[in-house]
Amino acid sequence: MIGIISDIHGNLEALKSVLASGKEHNITQWVCLGDIVGYGADPEACIHLVRETCHFVVLGNHDEAAIQNIGPDDFNPMAQQAILWTRLQLSSESRSWLQSLPLTIHDKIRLYVHASPRNPSDWNYVYTASEAQRQISDLDASIRSCYIGHTHEPFRYVGSNGVELINVGSVGQPRDGDQRASYALIDESKQESYIVRIPYDIERARHRIIEENLPLFLADRLLVGH
Ligand code: ZN
Repeated sequence: MIGIISDIHGNLEALKSVLASGKEHNITQWVCLGDIVGYGADPEACIHLVRETCHFVVLGNHDEAAIQNIGPDDFNPMAQQAILWTRLQLSSESRSWLQSLPLTIHDKIRLYVHASPRNPSDWNYVYTASEAQRQISDLDASIRSCYIGHTHEPFRYVGSNGVELINVGSVGQPRDGDQRASYALIDESKQESYIVRIPYDIERARHRIIEENLPLFLADRLLVGH
């Protein structure tokens, strides 16, 4: 089984609970679709854990913003505040590692990308069936499924060409009204994938955000998953 995680956003409690659930699901390979940092209070620890656990990792927009020296002008004020704080927390080794991450990884019949396969560096959001169809309409013919994150809402679309687009949801900041961490499992024997939800210690993650003087809104939104 393959486990696909995305949008961890410095939430170490959620990440640990998700990875621990991998044993019961017999996960032998983890893939991370980016946004390891931003919003949450433990970016450096999350990077360490992802580095030692994941076989493939692609870059997210918050990871990119965390290693730039300017901006991010396109982030809302709370996301900006969190990124400026995150920049101060990262070791130079973690910064260079983030710098080395690719935007997409094509592994056999699967494509991994943070936001969307068409122009991945534009960080477009895929919320609708028509946008999903546009995104998968001219992928390499060998690709049967494409895994994305970025919206923090699990989503599945099967195109007219049979290609699947699956949003795995967010580990560290779900926004679909379910406060549990979200990730996807791929059963390679059946070529099927499922979304899994995992409860974690939300109070501890909240407490860490408050302890680091990050915006209270970022702590409280974890309680409602929005
Ligand atoms: Zn994100």
